[in-house]
Amino acid sequence: MARVIVVGAGVVGLSCAVRLLEAGHTVDVVARDLPLETTSAVAAALWYPYRAYPVDRVTGWSSAGYAELETLAGREGTGVRMLPGTELHRSRVEDPWWRDAVPTLTRIRAFGPPYADGWTFVAPVAEMPVYLRWLTGRVEALGGTLTRMALSALPDRADVVVNCTGLGARRMADDPSMMPVRGQVAYVEQVGLDRWWLDGSAPGGPLYVVPRSQDIVVGGTDDEGEWDRRPDPRTAERLVDRAVELVPELASARVLGHKVGLRPARPAVRLEAGRVDGALVVHCYGHGGAGVTLSWGCADEVADLVGTAS
Ligand SMILES: Cc1cc2nc3c(=O)[nH]c(=O)nc-3n(C[C@H](O)[C@H](O)[C@H](O)COP(=O)(O)OP(=O)(O)OC[C@H]3O[C@@H](n4cnc5c(N)ncnc54)[C@H](O)[C@@H]3O)c2cc1C
Repeated sequence: MARVIVVGAGVVGLSCAVRLLEAGHTVDVVARDLPLETTSAVAAALWYPYRAYPVDRVTGWSSAGYAELETLAGREGTGVRMLPGTELHRSRVEDPWWRDAVPTLTRIRAFGPPYADGWTFVAPVAEMPVYLRWLTGRVEALGGTLTRMALSALPDRADVVVNCTGLGARRMADDPSMMPVRGQVAYVEQVGLDRWWLDGSAPGGPLYVVPRSQDIVVGGTDDEGEWDRRPDPRTAERLVDRAVELVPELASARVLGHKVGLRPARPAVRLEAGRVDGALVVHCYGHGGAGVTLSWGCADEVADLVGTAS
């Protein structure tokens, strides 16, 4: 069994740490930002393969993620629930490319304008503040540690290093293909909504409404190459107005707050192992708009790579 350092405490790093600990390794997680301060904490976080590539690997990881999150939805305290929802489009579209990753997806026939196509399915939804706390608790219960530490390079004193630094991999792995895709969300009052809604072809990027226990997440924007983490008030107003058009029940909902997250996007998720000065380095970053969706599928593969190589 190896001594592993996982760098990064977002949903990807914590899920990898859990799987490595379950496999019997000694795991220490180090991160500049603690779980509730990460991009992962801003995620909506609907199971949905979005802005992550390549299609075949992402479909496989998404399928594994669906199954694991569905299992967690049945457990107390995880913050994960299975919720039905509807995706709408403004023109006729084919089944989504990730169709094989969802157990059931039903095309719908009746639409009001401006919609012309769509489907419903049941998807896992993770309430991220609760889920990230649960993941952290799981790491600690399995004997792992979590330490705040900003690194300027990957550690060189471990048998194995797992690089889950998200957008930080631009520097940590010297990877200029890592790019932020800025997403702004609004939180509105929970008005009894118990299903999610997604306008998959809204002008300006997909629009989603995802209910949680105490509030509803409304998103989002999709600005490539944009690093600004400050919520823009005009964007916030537009988001809420568009959400009310999609889900009229939101008309009476008070706006509670706004946040911005920078999705760690890459032309393809980097999940691969290599040797640096004798140590095994496994890179696992670049999950774009689907880090929650892909987390368990990728964590399984990381644990397999470490198990095979160490
Ligand atoms: C608005 C929005 C909505 C989203 N909605 C969804 C959704 O509905 N479904 C879904 O699946 N995904 C969604 N996502 C995408 C998801 O949030 C990301 O893909 C995911 O958070 C990536 O996780 P990560 O662990 O790789 O990165 P992060 O959460 O960014 O974590 C990276 C970690 O690495 C650490 N790190 C970086 N550099 C260093 C360094 N130099 N030294 C030490 N530590 C370092 C950070 O401090 C942090 O702990 C959404 C994203 C946004 C912004």
